[in-house]
Amino acid sequence: MRIVVLGAGFGGLELTTRLSEEFGDDVDVVLIDRAEGFVFGFSKLDVMFGRSLPAGVFHPYRDIEKPGVRFVRAVIRSIDPVAKRVEADDGASYDADILVVALGADLDPSATPGLVEVGHEFYTLPGAFALRDVLAAFPGGDVIVGVTSTPFKCPPAPSETSLLVHDFLVRRELRDASSISLVMPMGAPIPPSPDASKALLAAFEERGIRWVPERTVRALDGVRKVAVLSDGSELPFDLFLGVPEHKVPRVVEESGMTVDGWVPVNPLTLETSFPGVYAVGDVTSVGTPKAGVFAEGQATVVADQIIARIRTGTTPSTYDGHGTCYLEFGDDMVAKVEVTFLSGQTPAGALEGPSSNIAADKIEFGTTRIRRWFGREWVGSEHVPV
Ligand SMILES: Cc1cc2nc3c(=O)[nH]c(=O)nc-3n(C[C@H](O)[C@H](O)[C@H](O)COP(=O)(O)OP(=O)(O)OC[C@H]3O[C@@H](n4cnc5c(N)ncnc54)[C@H](O)[C@@H]3O)c2cc1C
Repeated sequence: MRIVVLGAGFGGLELTTRLSEEFGDDVDVVLIDRAEGFVFGFSKLDVMFGRSLPAGVFHPYRDIEKPGVRFVRAVIRSIDPVAKRVEADDGASYDADILVVALGADLDPSATPGLVEVGHEFYTLPGAFALRDVLAAFPGGDVIVGVTSTPFKCPPAPSETSLLVHDFLVRRELRDASSISLVMPMGAPIPPSPDASKALLAAFEERGIRWVPERTVRALDGVRKVAVLSDGSELPFDLFLGVPEHKVPRVVEESGMTVDGWVPVNPLTLETSFPGVYAVGDVTSVGTPKAGVFAEGQATVVADQIIARIRTGTTPSTYDGHGTCYLEFGDDMVAKVEVTFLSGQTPAGALEGPSSNIAADKIEFGTTRIRRWFGREWVGSEHVPV
């Protein structure tokens, strides 16, 4: 049985780890990714606000040594979901008995006029890492944290970023000379959790962060230094921190697996409409937010489905849409929201914290993943003095 897993992000790493734990050398798993290593989404915020160094949040794939799993660094050029065959730029083609697409969402900053030229985005790795120096040199002024389109990964991230900008400016004694506005497409910061939304809105008010709901940023005008919002209104900026447009990787689009831009899957099993082909995480339209914890939960279910195919007689688990999201509130305080998205039901989420205990929980969340996925300790996870 050969299982080919496309993408070594949250979903691909969890899935291949589970398969290796279950079968060891008795399974043939190929894991393909174009990147040199893995970085948690939340580590981007740590680097940009000077809490971690880039090298400290980077986990090289060369460290993956798992029985039964072979990591291949290559760009995937084509996917044939009928033949379950993949071609990559290493010149090889990979035939699978079971194919899993975990290629995430690609980001397109150039889709928003002015964003590349006069703004900054903090969702790509280069974008977030470059912001470390931009923020360090910022003399104060009008800051906008703005979302340009939906869907977008980690819906709490723009709210967290606004709170972290506040902290950053206070520490540099620049807060009085600055304003912070948060432009979001939703009516509440975290719609499935009224408790979390209420706590965030209170935190914004307390810190003087202007909440601009139900709008996106359509363009940046670099001459007048204003952001043009989807309702035609404008906001001035000296520093724009944007969430760029998301889309499936082009290779997925060209594979014919998408409907309305994303890959539809059976919400219980994560199998696509192509037999023996599964998809997990941000690349899907399964109905959960695009976040690593959901990609991980889906990977667990796909692992169970594959295990049941190999070990006949076992009953696989099905997906329950559950995930725990951590929320940075600033001052090293973190809250968490337990959210469940069940198909056909209103999603629900309870808030715990913020507290320093949950901040420690979040660090533990990262270190346990790195230990399981890479088989080593996360030595660079300590925050550096700001
Ligand atoms: C600022 C920020 C903060 C975040 N905070 C959190 C958080 O606190 N909690 C949380 O759960 N989530 C968070 N996220 C979201 C999280 O990072 C993603 O939702 C998650 O990584 C999705 O997992 P995935 O496996 O679907 O895809 P990814 O982790 O994105 O992995 C996809 C992989 O596919 C590879 N790939 C793509 N195309 C190709 C190709 N053609 N050939 C070869 N390889 C390819 C990529 O290199 C990548 O490694 C955050 C995101 C951001 C940007």
